[in-house]
Amino acid sequence: MSTVDRKAELAANLAEVEARIAAACRAAGRARDEVKLIAITKTFPAADAALLADLGVTDVGENRDQEAGPKVAEVAELRPEADLRWHMVGRLQRNKARSVVEWAQEVQSLDSARLADALAKAVRTARDAGKREEPLDVLIQASLDDDPERGGCPLDELGALAERVTHTGELRLRGLMAVAPLGADPAEAFERLARAGERLRKDHPNAAEVSAGMSHDLEQAITHGSTCVRVGTALLGGRGLASP
Ligand SMILES: *Cc1c(COP(=O)(O)O)cnc(C)c1O
Repeated sequence: MSTVDRKAELAANLAEVEARIAAACRAAGRARDEVKLIAITKTFPAADAALLADLGVTDVGENRDQEAGPKVAEVAELRPEADLRWHMVGRLQRNKARSVVEWAQEVQSLDSARLADALAKAVRTARDAGKREEPLDVLIQASLDDDPERGGCPLDELGALAERVTHTGELRLRGLMAVAPLGADPAEAFERLARAGERLRKDHPNAAEVSAGMSHDLEQAITHGSTCVRVGTALLGGRGLASP
């Protein structure tokens, strides 16, 4: 497909997603600017992320460090003037922490004390090397299905992990992230997440972000208080069967 055609396709998809978000906000009595859109560009080329930036997208997300590192660098070459904010939303091994802090402004998938410590150490190292100045924004990924395979911190352990995160001094706790359980009612799960967010904010008032909702369930997530939807397929198209 030509770049012009792809740009038109992405523009149409973006308009549709924007309309869905706006309608869900209206229905929930919420302001549109309470909900941020992150375009999840995993498996799609840097050129697509560049086109999305041209179309006004400001937040972009990836789920694999190996793919994202080179892609972020490529987008920076394609659009040196674009001011994109990159979010890591996928499962993260501790040995990738050093690499992730070089491209991500925010990690949404922090789900263990060991990972918090590894990320904090990586931020310190990057800062000492002059590669970054700011602390790293993080969301704690909460498990809504208690399935260890899918990642996430159990809801009753969020408080302890939040303490650990803030005590590192290198990580800024911004809120919670979750993926709806497979084969269950997402609305009920998003409601549990919203209540966990309220409990967290008693001790961490700045942890206001609730990242929930993807292509197929963003309406329910917005109804139940999401402040951040992560949309891949509805913006960029299908990823095929082999891709997560
Ligand atoms: C891939 C992915 C998304 C986007 O999913 P779509 O269904 O394609 O919108 C959102 N969040 C996470 C953590 C993902 O890995």
